[in-house]
Parts: sequence; structure tokens; C-alpha cells
Amino acid sequence: MQIESNTAGEEPGAKDPVWRLIEKVGAWWIQAFSPALFLAFFFGCCWLPLRDAGRALSLGSALVLQMYIHELGHLFVFRQNGIRSRIWWLFPLGAAAAPVDRAEKRKSEALPWNDVAWLLQAGIMANVACMLAGSLLRSASTGWPAGFGGDLLTAGGVLAISNLIPLGKLDGGLLFHVIFSSLQEKDDVRVARGLAAILILAVLAAVVSIAWLGLGELIVAFFVRSGWFAVFALIAAGIWHRQGMDDPAHAGSAQAMTRRQALVHILYYIALLYISLRLCLGPLGLNF
Ligand SMILES: [Zn+2]
Repeated sequence: MQIESNTAGEEPGAKDPVWRLIEKVGAWWIQAFSPALFLAFFFGCCWLPLRDAGRALSLGSALVLQMYIHELGHLFVFRQNGIRSRIWWLFPLGAAAAPVDRAEKRKSEALPWNDVAWLLQAGIMANVACMLAGSLLRSASTGWPAGFGGDLLTAGGVLAISNLIPLGKLDGGLLFHVIFSSLQEKDDVRVARGLAAILILAVLAAVVSIAWLGLGELIVAFFVRSGWFAVFALIAAGIWHRQGMDDPAHAGSAQAMTRRQALVHILYYIALLYISLRLCLGPLGLNF
């Protein structure tokens, strides 16, 4: 659902559908009404299965809030880099933090890829921070505030985890695009293998920690953790796909990040992935 409008690392002059959309929906009255439209839309989507107006309002508000907070994360890093930018509501697709005009957009495209990578991670990081706040609220209160805390957790999890999947124009997809563009081909393969090994080791560790359960419990435990396995499989597929896609000549670009910077981003990505899955889906193994 989230759209990231920064296209650093792409061919200059390439048509960007998000930008065409921003130019269409830029009128202030469309922008002013969009959050209310989103709230009504999410309320409808949540009410249909829940049939409870209070629950639907709580979950719908949490979704709108988490969408906005995600874009605030991007906006913060844009502004840290001196790029005049704002948040655009693109109903019904999502929202995007983007430079205010084409001149600022060109400035953002000239940013070093290390800064672009922080820009991409910042949206997910903002969701994870808000999920932690939601989890505290849930355990420290009762009644509707506790329910809202849980909804912040769910809504943030949906946004964070979907944006971590390294596919297409999602934040995770663009993040691995700048990482693989920066590295030499040999290192691209190392990164892809290393990440695949980490995902497989995590699954193995989980299996070992639950292996002493009886067969029935083992099957239940497997289904309880199936969300983890599904996300891992999507990430592994996305990374293998990305790794083969980049232009090797990009590694010599002046915008490219160093190997050390790439490693920091990968470790940071793994931490965000672990925290958001852990908060949303519970532990992967019995003891961790
Ligand atoms: Zn984003």
C-alpha cells in the first residue's frame, strides 16, 4: 500500500508514475479530504468482517496514523538532507513523502545512496517505534486505550512487514536496489547467500527449539509460526531476484555506498525485520 517516490539509482528522466499522480492530486482540497477518505475506507474494510463500529474505528484510525507516521519518517530524512519536501495523500493508493517540486526532486536523485538507504529505512523505523509505543499502551492500560495500542501494533506490523519485502517499488525493494547497485557483483552474491543462510539458520534454530514437543504440538507450533516462514520465503525470493537485476557498472558510481555502509544497512534491516515480526507474530522459537 505504501508508495515510495524516491527513485534514486534509476535512469534519469525515467517516467515516475507516483510523480504524475502527485501532480494530479496536488490541489489543497483533495489533500485536506484524503485522510478522512482513508479513515472512512479503512472503517468500511474493518467493519465488514468485525461488525463492530468501535473496533473498526479504532483499527481504521490506527492504520491512518501509522501510514502518516511512516511518511513522517521519510520526511525527516529528506529534510535532514536539505531537501524541501512534504507528505502527499494519494487516495486510495497510500501516501508518499516527496520533494515539493521537480528541482528538489533532482536534488534528491543526486543524494549519495547511503543517504537514500537511510531515507528508505526511516519509514519502517517510524512504524516500528510506533508499534513499540502501541505495545506499551496495550500492557499499561485497559479498555479502549489497550485495544487501540493493540491496533497500532497490528497496523504498524502490516506496513512495516510489507515494506520490508524486497520487491518492486516497496521500501525494501528500493533498499536492496541501492545496496546491490553499490556493491561489486561478487559481493552481491555474498550478500544474497549470507542473508539466505541467516533466514535458514533462524528457521533451523526455531525447529530445534520446538523439536522436543509431541507431534500434535509440533504441527500446531508450525502453523503458529507460519507467518514467519512465509515472510522469510518472500524475502529470500525477493533478494535473489534483486541480486541478478542490477547494472554492475553502478558500483563505480560516485553515489555508491561503501561495503561497510552496505553492511550497516543490512544489519539494520535484519534488526527491523526481527523486531516487527516478533512484535506482531510472537516468538519464532520457544525461547527466543
Ligand atoms: Zn515508505
